[in-house]
Amino acid sequence: MSVAERMSRLGTETAFEVLGKARALEAKGQDIVHLEIGEPDFDTPKHITDAAIQALKDGHTHYGPTAGIPELREAIARNVSKTRGIKVSPDQVVVTPGGKPIMFFAILALAQKGDEVLYPNPSFPIYESMIRFSEAKPVPVRLIEKDGYRMDIEDLASKLSPKTRLVILNSPQNPCGSVMTKGDIAALAELLGDREDIYVLSDEIYKDIIYSGRHHSIAAEPGVGQRTMILDGFSKSYAMTGWRLGYGVFPPAVVPHIVKLAANSVSCAPTFTQRAAVAALEGSQEPVKKMAAEFRARRDLIVKGLNSIPGINCPEPQGAFYAFPSVKGTGIGSLDFQERGLKEAGVALLNGAAFGKYGEGFIRLSYANSQQNIKKAIDRLDGWVRKNGKKTNTKK
Ligand code: PLP
Repeated sequence: MSVAERMSRLGTETAFEVLGKARALEAKGQDIVHLEIGEPDFDTPKHITDAAIQALKDGHTHYGPTAGIPELREAIARNVSKTRGIKVSPDQVVVTPGGKPIMFFAILALAQKGDEVLYPNPSFPIYESMIRFSEAKPVPVRLIEKDGYRMDIEDLASKLSPKTRLVILNSPQNPCGSVMTKGDIAALAELLGDREDIYVLSDEIYKDIIYSGRHHSIAAEPGVGQRTMILDGFSKSYAMTGWRLGYGVFPPAVVPHIVKLAANSVSCAPTFTQRAAVAALEGSQEPVKKMAAEFRARRDLIVKGLNSIPGINCPEPQGAFYAFPSVKGTGIGSLDFQERGLKEAGVALLNGAAFGKYGEGFIRLSYANSQQNIKKAIDRLDGWVRKNGKKTNTKK
């Protein structure tokens, strides 16, 4: 069968593939610890689910406005204004089924053949996939282990060119767990200040899961803030991955183009889930804080455990719920870690190269799983690496 050429430019998310393989092994009776998929294992807080049930009972089961119901756009504008210290109008908000379409729409609306898009590498694989799909050139900015995977602003500066159209940021970061500091943001804002042709897509979907300091958004910076598109959503903060609800906050001139793309693809986000999202934003934020505290305890557990395995080095993630250790010292390739680790050790994890070429030699483990399961995974990996890894390694 022949398909359109553009299909060859689309990548994918390996997490869903590994999940499928893990489920197949489970169906045959093997016990697997799931550290592959990036979703909170907690239930959605009850007051949010109750609001959705009430909305269904009240008949909110029809199409809604493409950009989102007014109540939710207003609640988002209030929330983003407060959390980022900026003034957002509800007209700047577009609600979508998940945050992912915001990425898709922003890149499609702004980038095209002849443009260059800077993005972190390793990073969420859909950025590079979408950049290629738009026919723009992906220009990776390498995240380095010894820098705790924080983006090097000087390196980014060296990659800017007259063709640069878009810069993608993600803090807290998937897969590395790094967090941009206030200083990083200020330096970047200064760098991009005069480049009025460059827009920023700031993916802030993990903003509520930070272990030290606080979240800083480039949207709050003078100049470049006016050209910043914020991506956020409900999946990670409120354990609502399956609800498919996210949003973008755009400069006013960009909004009609994003709405046009939404009208051509998804029409609108489900209306009863949007009502639940109002309850999520306006209700108690205690569940969000509780989840973040538990992620922190799991982070400490997994980092300590990984660093006790010979040949593995895991910098401490500062946010999100991913550990991204180097496995170079084990002598086992990262793809082997993913494939054999699943079959032989019973631990589902992802090879770092699934997040870009600079992820080679690393693996990603999502610690959105119980402490008991994390301990089990570490024990299994420890035994497996000691048996199959470099025998000369005496580091630990
Ligand atoms: N951005 C990043 C960095 C992510 O890791 C994810 C999901 O894993 C998303 C955006 C999209 O999340 P959703 O579409 O569930 O809102």
